Amino acid sequence: MASSDRPEAGDRRVNSSWDNVSRLPLARARARVLILYVGGTLGMRRLQPSNPASPLANVEAAQLAEELLDFGCEEGISWQLMGLTDPQGTPVPPIDSSEVGPKHWLWIARMLERHYAEFDGFVIIHGTDTLAYTASALSFLCVNLGKPVVLTGSQLPIFNLRSDARQNLLHALLVAGARASGLPLVPEVTVCFGDALLRGNRSRKASTTGWQGFVSPNYPALGSLGESPRIHTDLLYPMPPADAAFYVGRALYDQVLDLTLFPGIQATQVGALLRQPELKGLVLRAYGAGNAPEDPALLDCLGQAASQGKTILVITQCREGRVDLGRYASSRGLLQRQVASGFDLTPEAALTKLMWVLANEQGEEVRVQLQQDQRGEQSYARHEVRFQLPQHEIRPEWQLTARSAGAVRRQSLEAAVLTLGLAGPADVQVFLNDHCIMQLVGAQGCCLSDVTDGVRRYMVDDRPFHLRVSSDRPIQLEQAELLLTTES
Ligand code: ASP
Repeated sequence: MASSDRPEAGDRRVNSSWDNVSRLPLARARARVLILYVGGTLGMRRLQPSNPASPLANVEAAQLAEELLDFGCEEGISWQLMGLTDPQGTPVPPIDSSEVGPKHWLWIARMLERHYAEFDGFVIIHGTDTLAYTASALSFLCVNLGKPVVLTGSQLPIFNLRSDARQNLLHALLVAGARASGLPLVPEVTVCFGDALLRGNRSRKASTTGWQGFVSPNYPALGSLGESPRIHTDLLYPMPPADAAFYVGRALYDQVLDLTLFPGIQATQVGALLRQPELKGLVLRAYGAGNAPEDPALLDCLGQAASQGKTILVITQCREGRVDLGRYASSRGLLQRQVASGFDLTPEAALTKLMWVLANEQGEEVRVQLQQDQRGEQSYARHEVRFQLPQHEIRPEWQLTARSAGAVRRQSLEAAVLTLGLAGPADVQVFLNDHCIMQLVGAQGCCLSDVTDGVRRYMVDDRPFHLRVSSDRPIQLEQAELLLTTES
């Protein structure tokens, strides 16, 4: 329905099933919000109302809209509730979020794009089970987002007297209708649940029952919606430039896997998964700071997949913290197999980011883009400095120069790992901009060294890295690479 077709106050059509709009007359509204009803518990009823054991299923959009008519009236927020439609405009019935997948994320994104100009903000009613995946996927698909997109759901249906649904939905409306509610504008994809407003691509479902059902383990909450709602503006993702048009991505590559390491995992199992020809990406939930068993067969499976152009994105199984490849000997095997570091990505953000990057990039650029912060989803970024080396040449001293993929500033440098591939044993010294940053005695093969202090001290912002590798005897240098981790 076009905005000019909207019914006025007192018009009985506000209660009819075809328009699904709030009771607030448009003339009195200070903000307009689109409520997109995808499904989930919030809009469910028992299939047999008198039987408490009967399963819950979603009601139609019109029935839910009836229940919300007064929502937002006090605050001056007028809304319109729509069900999901596919790209041809065919309505998709509301669904349990177990049914939601990449095609639905693309459809939701398309609807945001189609209605972007008409509304001041967007609320998405979604089942809680996969809500964090949808929030993460939307954050990558939305480009130049300058309006709030707030996902919410509930632990109990809105039709129950005792339920968290009303409060969650009202909070989401306040955030999406910032123009009317007076809250600061949050130009991001967020999750509003319980008292918390969380960045969508940092959120995770943490409880199947508690009112505070979602957490953001590696980034503070963007706001708290208790008695007096507060938004922490210093934590928000920046507004896009005024002339940058909003649009959404059109593709996700869904031939990916998410695999958790466990004690006893076998190379044959992993190999069988990775051999699927269509598979292009794997999220690997490693131990702790990105550690894996030093089982050569397992590591070779991963290495082979990487050399066939499959991307392995390593995240941690821990609830909090980040991957720090190279910190423990047990992560070096992964580091040597050209995996990408997912730092402190949630599993939901890692999987959807991988799908999004694989749909949009090719070759080396997949790893480069994966390791950069794209939408505030990770706190660190990795920059690779690859030094080109002539093959078969043997020298006592190597002068190497290369730029990093992406700008690196000393102030934001967190860690630097140098990988040297040496044919034959030698005592080696490495200089950065003529200052010694490392010495190796009797080194041979693939040597990884933490050179954070030296790089921090002697690098020059935005300039190429000048490396001198000198050895006590002529050697062949087969590989030289600096991996730089910065705060993003
Ligand atoms: N199974 C429901 C869903 O994810 C659970 C919920 O909404 O809380 O759709």
